[in-house]
Amino acid sequence: MTKPLLEIKNLKKQYPIYGPMGKMFRPKTHMNAVAGLSLEIHEKETYGLVGESGCGKSTTGRSIVKLVTPDEGEILYQGSDLLKLSNREYKPLCRDLQMIFQDSLSSMNPRQRIGQILEEPLIIHEMGDADERRRQVMEILTKVGLSEEYFFRYPHELSGGQVQRLGIARALIIKPKLIICDEPVSALDVSIQAQILNTLTSLQKEMDLSLLFISHDIGVVRYISKRIGVMYLGTLVEEADTEELFANTLHPYTKALLASVPDFSVAKKREVVLKGEQPVRTDEFRGCVFHTRCPYATEKCKTEQPELREIAPGHKAACHLCEGAGNA
Ligand code: SF4
Repeated sequence: MTKPLLEIKNLKKQYPIYGPMGKMFRPKTHMNAVAGLSLEIHEKETYGLVGESGCGKSTTGRSIVKLVTPDEGEILYQGSDLLKLSNREYKPLCRDLQMIFQDSLSSMNPRQRIGQILEEPLIIHEMGDADERRRQVMEILTKVGLSEEYFFRYPHELSGGQVQRLGIARALIIKPKLIICDEPVSALDVSIQAQILNTLTSLQKEMDLSLLFISHDIGVVRYISKRIGVMYLGTLVEEADTEELFANTLHPYTKALLASVPDFSVAKKREVVLKGEQPVRTDEFRGCVFHTRCPYATEKCKTEQPELREIAPGHKAACHLCEGAGNA
């Protein structure tokens, strides 16, 4: 395997929970949105991060591009810890790290024409003169499946799928190395989802990109990812190559996610069905993160948090049931 392009080590982010008097008093406790997450993304790889809404996957993605400031941990990009860099030191690196949002429209200035929206990142990063920038805008419009005709249009004139294509174009125009895709197809019709995913994968190959693909939909993540990390309550509970994860699912939470996919070839593994809501992981939370919803939970699960450990080559899981399996 190639060396990691990005390494996240023991990332933590918590938010205060205040009592009924609000911010007049110190927080009652904290919600641990990300609680010691570690993962690696390799060059030209698509890493899928999957889990229910609120599990901390978007906070993780936003931490990489400095939209969220983590409390602890390291984010190493080509050896530099992004969290320790000043804004001036980060600026040249941020050209390599771009993000595609679920709702790209809300991240665009509605008064700007599409040509201006796409030219702006080139101006910020001082890439090319006016003629060269215009040439690059026309080129990227074609690459993402829009045409040069869109140069003078406004983003509100586009359909949902076209807006996401524009979001991809804006992320790619400065030729980044890693794209964080935060639920980029969740708001789209299924047929449009497939088109956008195909556009992303073909551009990834053409431009040698790495992708961190964040989604709550394990079916979509399976379609696009080479490796998958399953996240629950701020931490990884299982990680493996995509084929291995689906062939030898270990963690009960991953099994529950698979059971929720409306695809009969996958849904036959309905061993675990998710019930109830995921709890809030406060400072007082103990034991396995999944114990409140796991049908196999024992007394040990309520008090001892299992470590994420390698059970088979490249396949990690955090479950007491898997302990010993890797020692055989
Ligand atoms: Fe379920 Fe216990 Fe495994 Fe957690 S450690 S997933 S509660 S069996």
